[in-house]
Amino acid sequence: MADLFAEVIIIGTALNKGLHYSIPSRLAGEVRAGSTVSVELGKKKTVGIVLCVVKCLPELPAAVKIRPILNVVDEAAVPPDLLELCLWISRYYFYPPGELFSLVIPSGTGKLTKTGSAVRSVSEKRRPALELTGEQVAAIDETAPFVDNPCFRPFVLYGVTGSGKTEVYLRLIERVTQSGNGSLVLVPEIAISAQMESIFRERFGDMLAVWHSALSQKERRQAWADIRTGRKKIVLGARSAVLAPVQDLRLLVVDEEQDTSYKQEDRLRYNARDVALMRGKILGVPVILGSATPSIQTVYRCAEKRYRSILLPNRVMYKPPPEFEVVDMKLEGGRKGIFSYKLREAIGETIRSGRQALLFLNRRGYDRYYLCNACGHALQCASCSVTLTYHKKDNRLRCHYCGWETSLPERCPVCAHAALFAHGFGTEKVEKEVRRLFTGVRVVRMDRDTMNSRERLLGALDAVRSGKADVLLGTQMVAKGHDFPNITLVGIIDADVGLQTPDFRAGEILVQLLIQVAGRAGRGEDPGRVILQTFNPSHFTIESALKLDYDGFCAEELKSRENLQYPPFTRLLKVLVTSGNEDSARAGAHLLAALCREKADSFRNAGRSVAVLGPSPSAYVKLKNRFRWQVYIKTWTSSDMQGFVEGVLESVKGDPNFRSVQITVDRDPATEI
Ligand code: ADP
Ligand code: ZN
Repeated sequence: MADLFAEVIIIGTALNKGLHYSIPSRLAGEVRAGSTVSVELGKKKTVGIVLCVVKCLPELPAAVKIRPILNVVDEAAVPPDLLELCLWISRYYFYPPGELFSLVIPSGTGKLTKTGSAVRSVSEKRRPALELTGEQVAAIDETAPFVDNPCFRPFVLYGVTGSGKTEVYLRLIERVTQSGNGSLVLVPEIAISAQMESIFRERFGDMLAVWHSALSQKERRQAWADIRTGRKKIVLGARSAVLAPVQDLRLLVVDEEQDTSYKQEDRLRYNARDVALMRGKILGVPVILGSATPSIQTVYRCAEKRYRSILLPNRVMYKPPPEFEVVDMKLEGGRKGIFSYKLREAIGETIRSGRQALLFLNRRGYDRYYLCNACGHALQCASCSVTLTYHKKDNRLRCHYCGWETSLPERCPVCAHAALFAHGFGTEKVEKEVRRLFTGVRVVRMDRDTMNSRERLLGALDAVRSGKADVLLGTQMVAKGHDFPNITLVGIIDADVGLQTPDFRAGEILVQLLIQVAGRAGRGEDPGRVILQTFNPSHFTIESALKLDYDGFCAEELKSRENLQYPPFTRLLKVLVTSGNEDSARAGAHLLAALCREKADSFRNAGRSVAVLGPSPSAYVKLKNRFRWQVYIKTWTSSDMQGFVEGVLESVKGDPNFRSVQITVDRDPATEI
């Protein structure tokens, strides 16, 4: 019998605990916490990750036979801080560790060569070239000591659009790199990462590894190996990069920290911004959250002095902020027109003067939906409670949730009248209208329909940058992060998209998006002009954007959140109950709510606070053929949430009444979906 044992999490399983294996003496020196090892599970050979090495076994049932570890795959697959982080994630988001590790370690990763020499080639090209602004210098002076003598500290780089936040990140990373250490930078969207990548590449050359969803399996394995062995010490990527095994990590940056795309909405429902903060805390290193419009949660934490806020209130070179003009579409002859007279004129002028216009509409497709004028039925997806969007290019109706598509029927499927008419418009129709109005105009359209590969995305960005396009048109893909100096006009075609979403965060998300997109104007020599079309010019959210008064918006929003006891004043967790059968989903949700209320009573008796809300059908009651109901849990502290939900899930696990439904937990939910 060996005298050392390892507790091993089998990668890819939903088991909630580690299994014990003995360590043969020939492997004794190699097996440690964070090693990947090959072991047997049942009759199958599989890979696991070692949580810890122990001298004696816990008490196990007599029938359990302890088997040996067969081999070590990678002695140090997961650095200790990342291992600790993963265990925190698994607990905090109620997600099985085995499944989590399959997201951390790319499948098929084998033995890696021992730490190679790190690539070092900081390009000197651009440095003296750019003299920092006073505000940038102050931002660096305040953060740099925490980088030089690492300790955990969350900073919020609250800088208006065009204030040069990127340069601050770059200078801090340079410092980290010069001392041979690692940095991790998160960006919310692949469209932004493309632009950031070229800036970082120019500055850091081969030291940079990029990590995003468009990497192939092979590229992913290569990037992972480069990072894990310390060959690449700067990692730039989308949300899952927060789990990259960066060596000697000394600095984390989360750009556009408010962005909801940091939240993953399937499987592991984590928020990469929050995970980055926890990683910084575990490691004892600073975390920089950058934004022109920080999330309400972050604004609140600054007010509480838990985060330190650093302001960049001016654009670089004191370029003026974009000027808003509002068009009340009620006075423009109803919903039919896409462009007001004013916006149409402005686009014409911009193109004629050789400048570029950006047109923003957060809705893709051609017509928004088809409605039967006889019975009022709107054509819907067969699998989701979502109206279908018409795409003219391929003459199809498409569901934007599950991708299901069908041809346009001649008659209404409900009343059989030939009275189907299109309503509303999306980016595809706007493109057609732009081409009709401005003969010979060069348009680049960026949305999920046109940008289906990274090559196309890079091509589109390049066309705008090199002046091969007059108009850049698109959804939120065009709204954020881009730095195109020749864009002088931003047209917000329908600012009201998202205003009526049944979600307490709708206002927050919309005002952030509008300020972001306005910030794309006037970043070069010429001042920027923003024309915003709306049916609700005096709505508080729209007005705040028009005045670029984000602080004023936050102050009001925080008051209302406090009144209603919504986050950030409380913690929320959504329990989704889904089933292929409508009755099962409803019944399951009712049963779950009853169970939660029962537990809440005893929880409160123990002097702790919790509220149970619901059950209610989800905003989208059917998606991909599954019916969806939900129960919300509200607590006033994170530890109450942890304790309460652990108890609920434990009871659900053993209860046969929940067998016909699937239960998913979404902690700190970001949207209603
Ligand atoms: P933000 O992310 O804050 O919106 P960026 O980092 O994209 O702004 O910077 C806006 C533009 O200003 C970029 O083109 C950048 O190269 C330029 N820039 C940044 N810092 C300086 C500086 N100190 N002097 C001159 N230009 C600068
Ligand atoms: Zn669908």
